[in-house]
Amino acid sequence: MRYISTRSASPPLGLAEAIQTGLAPDGGLYVPEHLPVFKVEDFAGLDALPDIAEKFLAPFFEGDELSVHLSDICREAFNFAVPLVELDEETAVLELFHGPTAAFKDVGARFLAACVSRLPGRRTVLVATSGDTGGAVAAAFHGRANVEVRILFPKGLVSPRQEKQLTCWGAGVRAFAVRGDFDDCQRVVKAAFADCQLRVERGLLSANSINLGRLLPQAAYHAAASLWYLRRRGAPAGLVVPTGNLGNAVAAFWARAAGLPVREIALASNANRAVPDYFDSGAWAPRPTVRTLANAMDVGNPSNIERLLRLHPDFDELKSFARAFTVDDAEIKHTIEDAARISGRVFDPHTAAAVRVRALLATPHWVVVATAHPAKFESIVEPLVGREVETPSALAELLDKESACVEIEPTLDALVRAAFSP
Ligand SMILES: *Cc1c(COP(=O)(O)O)cnc(C)c1O
Repeated sequence: MRYISTRSASPPLGLAEAIQTGLAPDGGLYVPEHLPVFKVEDFAGLDALPDIAEKFLAPFFEGDELSVHLSDICREAFNFAVPLVELDEETAVLELFHGPTAAFKDVGARFLAACVSRLPGRRTVLVATSGDTGGAVAAAFHGRANVEVRILFPKGLVSPRQEKQLTCWGAGVRAFAVRGDFDDCQRVVKAAFADCQLRVERGLLSANSINLGRLLPQAAYHAAASLWYLRRRGAPAGLVVPTGNLGNAVAAFWARAAGLPVREIALASNANRAVPDYFDSGAWAPRPTVRTLANAMDVGNPSNIERLLRLHPDFDELKSFARAFTVDDAEIKHTIEDAARISGRVFDPHTAAAVRVRALLATPHWVVVATAHPAKFESIVEPLVGREVETPSALAELLDKESACVEIEPTLDALVRAAFSP
C-alpha cells in the first residue's frame, strides 16, 4: 500500500515513512492510495478486536517494513476492553474509554507508539492537544527508549483531570500551557514541523490525528463494531461519531469505504459548526473556535476535512449516506441529565453529543461511539447527575501523581526556547 497526499503534490510514501513524516511536504495529509474492499465473509470466525484489526489492517501494511509486526502491534495496542454495549433495541454504544487515560485517543496513541517503537532512530513526539490527545500520547510513549514527548495545550481550556494527565509524567514527557486556544497550539506545532532544521535535529514525530498511525486503528474498531452489530442484530448499523478534528470520523468513513457493514454515518459536532455547516451548504468555511462543555471537540478548523473531501469529493454522494448535526451546551447538559434519570447511564459531554444526535435520527440500528469516560469530566457531569461518578483505577493512579508544566506564548520561538533548549 502506498500513501498519497491529499494535495497530490508530494511523492507517495510507504506506511512507515508516512507515519514518520506526519504532514506531507505539500501541506496535505496522507491517505491510502486506494482502500481495500472487504466482504463481511472475510471476517468469518474472527471476533476479538485484535484479530479483526489484524485482518482489516493487513492490506494497509502490505509491502511495508512494519507488516511483519502487525500482529504484535495489534495485540499491544488493543490490550484493553472495547465493548459494544446495548443501549436499547435499536442502539448500541461502542465504549472506547477503557484505556489508560479513559478516552478513545488511547487506541490511536498506543498503536502509533507500538509502530514507532519498532522503527530505528531517536525521536521527539510533538503534539498539540485540545484535551485528550496529549494524555493518551504521553501514556503511550512514556518510558519507551529513544522517545521524548512535548505536549502543547491551551491554558485554562482543558479540564483539571485532562491537565493532570498531560503534566504528571516527568522524565522525558514535558507539557506546555499555551496562552491561546487549540488552534493556536496546532499552528505552533505546524510551524515547528515546517522548520527543517528543528525537525531533523530533533527527529520530530507528529502524534496528532494528522498521523496515519492513529487513524488506521480507529478504522479497525469501527470495522469491528459494524461486524459485531450485524452479527448480533442481523442488520447493518449506522455510526454516530462525536467529532472535533474529524479524525475519528474519517476513520469511520474509511471503514465504510473498505466494504464494512456501516450503513450510514452521522457526525455529532458541538457548537463548533464548521462541519454541520458544510453538510448544509456544500461550502467549506473554517470558523473561530468556540468553547463548549465537550472541549476535546472545540476545533474551528478541523484539519481532517481534507481527508474526508478527498474520499468523498462529490457532495451529493456524501450526503446520500452521511449527515452532520450541531449540539449546543444546553442540549449536551439535558442529554446527560435525562439519560441518568431515565436509564441510570452516565455519559461524558462528548458522548452525550452523539447520544443526542442518535435521538434525532428516525432510522433504527445505530452504534453511538463513546469517546470518553464520564469520570474524566466529573466537574461537568457530577452536578448534572447529582452523584459521584466512579473513577476508573488507571485514571485514579494518574491523579495521585505530581504535576509540572511551563506557560508559553503561542509562538514557535517561545516553544523552541522552552522545549528544545538544552
Ligand atoms: C478528541 C476527542 C473527540 C474528537 O475526535 P476527533 O477525532 O478529533 O474528531 C471526541 N471526544 C473525545 C472525548 C475526544 O477526546
